Amino acid sequence: MKRSFIREILEAIDEKTISFAGGLPNEKLFPMEELKIATLKVIENPKTYQYTISNGIDELREQIALRYTKEGFATTKENILITTGSQQAMYILAKFFENKNITIEEPSYLGAMNIFRLNGLKMEGVKLENDGVDINKFEESFKNTKLTYLIPDFQNPSATTYSDTKREEVANIIKKYDGILIEDSPYSELFFDKKMPYISKSLTNNSFLLGSFSKTLVPSLRIGWIRANEDKIKSLMIIKESIDLHSCGLSQYILSEYLKDEQKYENHLQKIRDDYKEKAEFFSKSLKSIIPEFIHQTPKGGMFLYGGFKNKIDTFALVQECLKKKVVYVPGNQFYIDKVPNSEIRFNYTHSSFEQIEKGLKIIKSCL
Ligand code: PMP
Repeated sequence: MKRSFIREILEAIDEKTISFAGGLPNEKLFPMEELKIATLKVIENPKTYQYTISNGIDELREQIALRYTKEGFATTKENILITTGSQQAMYILAKFFENKNITIEEPSYLGAMNIFRLNGLKMEGVKLENDGVDINKFEESFKNTKLTYLIPDFQNPSATTYSDTKREEVANIIKKYDGILIEDSPYSELFFDKKMPYISKSLTNNSFLLGSFSKTLVPSLRIGWIRANEDKIKSLMIIKESIDLHSCGLSQYILSEYLKDEQKYENHLQKIRDDYKEKAEFFSKSLKSIIPEFIHQTPKGGMFLYGGFKNKIDTFALVQECLKKKVVYVPGNQFYIDKVPNSEIRFNYTHSSFEQIEKGLKIIKSCL
C-alpha cells in the first residue's frame, strides 16, 4: 500500500501554490446562507445529537430516493444506505467483495483502487475509450470476474462519459454473465448539457449505485450513499455498523433540512453547472494556446480535464519541477494499476480562478 498522491499533495501545498490537483469544488459556490439557516434550525433539537439508526435518518433516505424516482428510477428509502462519503460506500463494498477479482476502467479513481488493494481485491484494468470501456476487452475480463467498478459520468480522472450504446452494451454483458456492477456517480449531476441515464437502471438486482453530496453541495459533511435492492442494503448494514455505527447525525439533519426546498437545490445545481462549464471551456482554451502539444477533449461535465502530450514526457517527473515553482497537477500514472510513468495529466479546473489558470499553465509550460 502507498498513500494517495493527491492526499499527500494536499498536505504539501501552501496558499501560494496554484493547485490543479485535488478534486476540490469551488467554495465560492457553497450555499453558505442556506446551509447556515438549515444548521440553525436543526441544532436546536436534541435528537440531532443522539445516536441514530445505521442506515441513515429516514427523512434523508426518502429525499434521496425521491430524486431517483422522479428520474424514472423507482426507489424507496429501503433501497438507500447513508454512508460517510461515497468513499466509505466503496470501502463497505470492498469488504463485501473481499479478495474477489474486479474489472475496473483504466485510468480509474485512485481512491477506489487503494480501497480495493487494501481489501485484497485483484484488479483487472480495461482501457477507457472516448465513449466508455473497450467493450470486447470488458467482456473478456468480466466473464471471469463477474464484478466491475465503473464511473460512467464525467469520470475521475478522464472526464469520459459513456455513450448510450456503451451503457447498453455494458448492461447487457453484466446481465449475460449474471454479474455485479458498482456504479460510482458523484459527478452525474454536474452535466453541462444533459443528464445521462444510470446503467444501474437497467440492472434491477445486480447493481450498487453510489452517490454523494460532496461535489454537488459540500464535501466536509461527508455524506454519501449506496442505492441497491433491499436485501443487499441489509447485508451491507452489517459492515456499516461495524465501521462507525452510523454516519454523522448532525450532517444528515443539516442536509435533510436543506433539501426540503427541492427547487433551491435545483437552482444551486444549475449555478454550479454554469460556473463549471465556463471554467472548463476557459481551461481548455488556455491549454490549447499555452501548451498546444497537450492533447485533450473539452469536458462535458464534472470537475476534471484529462489528456496527454504527443511526445513522451514523464509527467510524474515534470510535476516535481512544477512543485518547485508552486504549481501542481496529478500525473496520469497515478490512475493506473501499475503506476508506470506516462505522458498524461489530470487537471482540476473548478477550484482555480481564471488568472490562476493562465498563470499556472504558463509555469507548467516553462517547466516542460
Ligand atoms: N468516487 C469518485 C469517483 C471520486 O472522485 C470521489 C472523490 N474524489 C469519491 C468517490 C469520494 O467522494 P466522497 O467520499 O467525498 O463522497
